[in-house]
Amino acid sequence: MGGLWRQWRDVLSRLGFANAALDAKWLAAAALGLSNLEMVTRETEPVDDAAALRLAEMVQRRMGGESVGRIIGEREFYGLPFRLNAATLEPRPDTELLVDLALKAIGPGQRMLDLGTGTGCIPIAILANEPDVSALAVDLSGEALVAARENAVRNGVAERLQLLEGSWFEPLVEGERFDLIVSNPPYIESAVIETLAPEVRVHDPRLALDGGPDGLAPYRSIAAEAGRWLKPGGQLMVEIGHDQGASVSKVLAAAGLAGITVHCDLAGLDRVVCA
Ligand code: GLN
Repeated sequence: MGGLWRQWRDVLSRLGFANAALDAKWLAAAALGLSNLEMVTRETEPVDDAAALRLAEMVQRRMGGESVGRIIGEREFYGLPFRLNAATLEPRPDTELLVDLALKAIGPGQRMLDLGTGTGCIPIAILANEPDVSALAVDLSGEALVAARENAVRNGVAERLQLLEGSWFEPLVEGERFDLIVSNPPYIESAVIETLAPEVRVHDPRLALDGGPDGLAPYRSIAAEAGRWLKPGGQLMVEIGHDQGASVSKVLAAAGLAGITVHCDLAGLDRVVCA
């Protein structure tokens, strides 16, 4: 394999792909059925024609602007593996800040709600790191919930994660209360989606991106009802776009939520609002 992945690395690199070496390596690992670790530690690998062809097809898709995660159908988030499908957003490292903050806020015996769960990456990462917490996760897409179920089983938290199909709070049972409500909702302005890189615009599901004309519609829906589903002293945490700190804070305050704080990610950009 030594030679083959390097050839594709050089092709991607010449085409201007910034992470050509890793892209080629992870695609080669998938084409050969090796783990990333095996791929890194083995210097040479016998490659049969079928594997070489699989790799060529995968690199072709990468050249067409699809992400490595989409091509492989899997992405790592918070150190755990997550399956993707056509209905799920590919989990982003930015969202790990929301998990960090949630893990600080939640404790043994508590229950949390995740709205718009997609792959289930947020509650699954939390449950995997906090053994005595349970979660309810909601998504509008039944297909996304299939991926979330598979990811919960794979990461060993399925008994503590309940999944419901519907819009925001709509499928919840009246009277239930949560210690923590989290969401990474669609927050991109509809008109801006057309300007995004093909990796996102073409290959991530539109439902997972589109936040309406001003990108704030999901925050309004969530803020309007969050108070009613939180226990006294409970918290709401939402991921935001880097320029939405002030506007989302305003939406949450207008809905009567108190104690609003904005948190920056590792790049120093506004990324999470808590209330
Ligand atoms: N909650 C999921 C994630 O963070 C899905 C988010 C979305 O589709 N907007 O990946």
